[in-house]
Amino acid sequence: MTQQYRITLLPGDGIGPEIMAIAVTILKAVGQRLDLKFEFQEALLGGAAIDATGEPLPDATLKTCQDSDAVLLAAIGGYKWDTLPNAQRPEKGLLKLRAGLQLFANLRPATILPQLVDASSLKREIVEGTDILVVRELTGGIYFGQPRGIFESETGEKRGVNTMVYSESEIERIGRVAFEAARKRRGQLCSVDKSNVLEVSQLWRDRITALSAEYPDVELSHLYVDNAAMQLLRAPKQFDTIVTGNLFGDILSDAAAMLTGSIGMLPSASLGVAGTPGLFEPVHGSAPDIAGQDKANPLAQVLSAAMMLRYGLNEPQAADLMEQAVQKVLDAGYRTGDILSPGMKLLGCQAMGDALLEAL
Ligand code: NAD
Repeated sequence: MTQQYRITLLPGDGIGPEIMAIAVTILKAVGQRLDLKFEFQEALLGGAAIDATGEPLPDATLKTCQDSDAVLLAAIGGYKWDTLPNAQRPEKGLLKLRAGLQLFANLRPATILPQLVDASSLKREIVEGTDILVVRELTGGIYFGQPRGIFESETGEKRGVNTMVYSESEIERIGRVAFEAARKRRGQLCSVDKSNVLEVSQLWRDRITALSAEYPDVELSHLYVDNAAMQLLRAPKQFDTIVTGNLFGDILSDAAAMLTGSIGMLPSASLGVAGTPGLFEPVHGSAPDIAGQDKANPLAQVLSAAMMLRYGLNEPQAADLMEQAVQKVLDAGYRTGDILSPGMKLLGCQAMGDALLEAL
């Protein structure tokens, strides 16, 4: 029987509509190959939504997203909206969307594609073969803990305060996402904390260790965050899946991503509780400097759609097909301007889409 999925598309601003069009074409082609039917519905977010409705996240968009099986976003923002007050900026729409979908888990792969090893700032022998997934808790920890603020003491001295707090249930739900993700990869999970200093990290380590009894097929290890940062740069190949809290994950996922050296290649996924739609988007922004010029690299968008298939819709075979198509175009020497190196063939966004289709 044909499997049917309802996908909300949020093309957004800048290069968003250009790269989204490519991802949709590839999704349709993969769907045809594997007898999957995608019902696409497009909605407004960011600057495009502000222009049409005055709101960066119209209620109708949130509702459409909530009623779908998965949400595929390109990027939002641009010069035109940069001078608006903070609450009306395109970025606010994205933050509200993440909150509205209760996305508590952020998944960011840092995979060094063999064809792009030399784009990394680290030596080839260090990064070659690196394939890491960072699972970051997104709605808790020190970014949200109370009390917070800048308080003045009786002597008039100011104190800045933030609180790092995790409950057992918050740790367990992100832990489950990470164990499940590790299961779909090479079966190794490294939990990163600072339990030698922080009580919140001691609870984190206890709960993750307890949870591992339910995942005997996943090999669990623990690292302190300072050591994890060193190891990421010293020997990134030792990592498969990493799970960590909001603050440590913010820093480590950027460090891991930059091992790859090419922002136009990086997808991400944000997941909520089981049965609710996840949000899948490239790490890069709307690149207003090259919008409408057919120069954008669509590969991060295509790889985000692949993550949607793998982690959002549980269609690993379809995800594999899309990722293999990306490998094939790179093997053939095709590059957009942002990843161009000597001897390679320069393609525009549209032509890269055609090459992907051909590769499929
Ligand atoms: P950016 O990622 O849009 O661009 C940084 C640089 O990378 C630019 O030179 C751009 O041309 C290049 N680049 C990015 N993606 C590319 C691609 N797919 N192909 C080729 N080149 C690419 O970051 P920025 O310039 O700091 O921000 C531009 C706008 O995007 C801002 O309004 C910002 O708020 C917004 N933004 C949105 C998101 C999002 O939608 N999640 C994320 C980051 C920034």
